[in-house]
Amino acid sequence: MRNRNGNYLDTLPYYAGPLGSEIRDGSTYFRLWAPSASSVELFLYKEGSECASFRRESLNKYSDGHWEARIDEDLEYTYYDYLIFTNGNEYRTIDPYAVSAGVNGRRAMVIDLRHTDPEGWEEDRAPERQNDDIIYELHVKDFTYQRFSGISDRARGRFIALTEENTHLTFDENFPTGLSYLKSLGITHVQLMPIYDYGSIDEKGNDFDFNWGYDPENYNVPEGSYSTDAEHGEVRIRELKEMIRALHKAGLRVVMDVVYNHTYRLDSPLFRTEPWYFYRQNADKSASNGSGCGNDIATERPMAHRYILDSVLFWAEEYHIDGFRFDLMGLLDTRLMNDIRESLDRIYGKGEKLVYGEPWAAGGTAVKEGFQLADKYALSLLDDGIGAFSDSTRDLIKGSNFDSKSLGFVNGGNVDLHLLRHAVAGWMNGDWHFRTKSANQTIEYVSCHDDWTLWDKLKLSLDPKEDFLQLDEKTVKANKAAAAMYFTMQGRPFMLSGEEAARTKVGIKNSYNSPIFINRFDWTRTKDAKELIDYYRSLIATRKRIPALYDKSEKAIDRIKSFETLYKRTAVFLLDNHPDEKYPSLMLIYSNEEKPVTMQLGKLWTVLIDPDSASYMDSGEKDVKELYLEGPEVYLLASK
Ligand code: CA
Repeated sequence: MRNRNGNYLDTLPYYAGPLGSEIRDGSTYFRLWAPSASSVELFLYKEGSECASFRRESLNKYSDGHWEARIDEDLEYTYYDYLIFTNGNEYRTIDPYAVSAGVNGRRAMVIDLRHTDPEGWEEDRAPERQNDDIIYELHVKDFTYQRFSGISDRARGRFIALTEENTHLTFDENFPTGLSYLKSLGITHVQLMPIYDYGSIDEKGNDFDFNWGYDPENYNVPEGSYSTDAEHGEVRIRELKEMIRALHKAGLRVVMDVVYNHTYRLDSPLFRTEPWYFYRQNADKSASNGSGCGNDIATERPMAHRYILDSVLFWAEEYHIDGFRFDLMGLLDTRLMNDIRESLDRIYGKGEKLVYGEPWAAGGTAVKEGFQLADKYALSLLDDGIGAFSDSTRDLIKGSNFDSKSLGFVNGGNVDLHLLRHAVAGWMNGDWHFRTKSANQTIEYVSCHDDWTLWDKLKLSLDPKEDFLQLDEKTVKANKAAAAMYFTMQGRPFMLSGEEAARTKVGIKNSYNSPIFINRFDWTRTKDAKELIDYYRSLIATRKRIPALYDKSEKAIDRIKSFETLYKRTAVFLLDNHPDEKYPSLMLIYSNEEKPVTMQLGKLWTVLIDPDSASYMDSGEKDVKELYLEGPEVYLLASK
């Protein structure tokens, strides 16, 4: 069957009813959407891998395209998969709606999710929202892998590592690690790199196997290699919930990195249930590849739209996830993103769950005509509660990720100072580089898991010896200025874990599958980098107390009262900081003068942030009448 406009896939019926497996009143139901299939067979197993099936049942087909079987038994903890015949082909697959699975995600598991709740889960609540959202990106395994972290051997590299309290460096009990360290930073949100079931790691493999995990296998199943027992599907669920409960208890909200733009292989559970339906195709029928990973999900197709929305709402409800970071959001369509935002707002309250993503793709994609991609040129079409990473801010501060020698403001680049005005306003009414509806849409950052770490990028551009391990004064100074810049811009600050500790991957740019000893968070370095870490801590604490910076409303831009450039490379802003009565007006200075200059301030100003510290609000006031400017420096001053 083919409609006049071309593709028969667009004529397949929409199905709105329940999918997946469900135990109800002593019976177990199995439901699958596969309208093109001519038969669907269910196989039941005692174990998640290898053993032979003990039972086989046929599913019945309904006119709305779904298949269903009811077995009058409670099959909890039973594993299953399907054999599907479609257009003369035979496909063996796990249920795309599986919520748990056996090892390596080959077989789904029937489960009553209430039986996976750790003690007290019903009472688990996200901590109160603070003045600002300060997001810290980490990878469960890399952050908790190193023995020096003092995290127990049983837990290291796993979900439960972030449930251990009061851990400290094995060689210095005064230095917190793991969960305690996160708590000490003052961040408000932890963004977890992929925790759904991904395919690149053998869950029966070695402890030191490592991957970032941007290769989705089962979207609604937690990754097995992060559990203490990948063979039993219920364990990974309980342990992930234990981790989330511990993070919540520590005052941290939890954001999940979601990768709905592509699957690990084109030959995925989605493909096997309804061939090609969930994927974009080029004119010659080949798979579209805007993800650079071999395939693109056709988010604009109604059942794909439903699948992704269902998945997001599932994680929010079942795992109490507080926000979603969309990988290559520029491959998803704007209707889907707006639907996700609207649904989360309706259920949980406006803006309560964060939604933001990468407003770009790796390449062009064969999206259906009439649909807009949620990239940075479509921010005006997206709800103002959908955020986007500002590569413009990132590149302005430290230079491009595409060229190690490309320079930004802090490493001596000849940047257009007027762009700083847009960056400080969160690119509200910005220029073609980046243009948002309000600062609420802006993620301000200089480093994430992709590309060089901030430290490595600065080393490559500032240190002729490229000695990544050495914490030299010049690079530390540039690092502090970079941090103080994005922490004094409107929008949401975001950082890669370890940015505050001069994190290095010894110049390796794309470490997605590099060995664990390149990727692991180096706890031994935190002690050497203590001064830098303390600087970040003080920036975070100060920012949360400055309305002029954390205001994300449409009026926030009006707080920028003036902007001027001075000398060779100095930009000065006056900011309206109401309703703060003690510091109603502020002066923000970004400077990187090669030859020292003395800036006369005309009167006494109180220092809130300078290159040495940002803790003056707590540790005692300091007044200045003039500034001696040399090299990359940021000052935030309050009018006396
Ligand atoms: Ca996996």
